Amino acid sequence: MARVIAIANQKGGVGKTTTAVNLGAALSEAGKSVLLVDMDPQASLTVHVGLDDGDERRSVADVLEEGVSAETALVRKQLGLFDVVPSSIDLAGLELSLSGVVGRESVLRGALGRWVERYDYVLIDCPPSLGLLTVNCLVAAREVFIPLQTEWFALRGLAQLLQSIEVVRKRVNRRLRISGVIACMYQGRRRLCDEVLEAIRARFPEQLFSTVIRDNIRLAEAPSYGLPVTLYETGARGSEDYRSLAREVIAQEAATEVQDGKA
Ligand code: ADP
Ligand code: MG
Repeated sequence: MARVIAIANQKGGVGKTTTAVNLGAALSEAGKSVLLVDMDPQASLTVHVGLDDGDERRSVADVLEEGVSAETALVRKQLGLFDVVPSSIDLAGLELSLSGVVGRESVLRGALGRWVERYDYVLIDCPPSLGLLTVNCLVAAREVFIPLQTEWFALRGLAQLLQSIEVVRKRVNRRLRISGVIACMYQGRRRLCDEVLEAIRARFPEQLFSTVIRDNIRLAEAPSYGLPVTLYETGARGSEDYRSLAREVIAQEAATEVQDGKA
């Protein structure tokens, strides 16, 4: 069964897209089949994997608007690594036009039908808000990964995200759970970073991955080349960190299967 994971945090710039692309690449490198779904109207993931964000191609916006399968917008084996459902700016308008539709929270779930079960991993990159688009991601997913910047305000505003997850869990998606918290952009030499990391660990003792994603300029450069860091500079610290994260994520699989069996 595919692990469908929403990468969510309503704050922008915390590492959601970077994690979706590079964790996806590292999982693929480890032999897993991966689908990336870009649910951000800014289409950063789409561009990061080397696709253009123009409107000539079908995108997740068309899919959600027409209420059809996301397979109709699928780009196969992008960079030889993963399949991608790209985004486009049209997604911005959809937040509004969907709002009057019955079942508006479940449109993405409908679009990601049985066919996604052929993947090992489906990573959904959420937009930086807690609006209808993010709710759609949470309804479609079984798990949530939360990237947090190891900065002073990392835990601020988290209550709203946790509350949204809880509401979705109670009302529509009983099995949804936070199965990972990822410390991103860690600047090792600063004491503040370690203090924040400890605060995150205290808040999420079970969920925090022991891999910490260090601040690495290659991770910031790779998007403009349309490549994950693992292809841009395979030996970079960013590549090492996301490979290490991928190993931890894969190690969760046994536990995930037990949980699914019970549910
Ligand atoms: P989000 O999707 O949450 O808005 P991004 O993944 O786009 O955040 O990251 C925000 C910016 O920080 C991007 O320019 C990205 O390249 C950069 N970035 C992300 N992670 C790192 C890191 N570990 N080291 C250096 N730069 C990073
Ligand atoms: Mg993003």
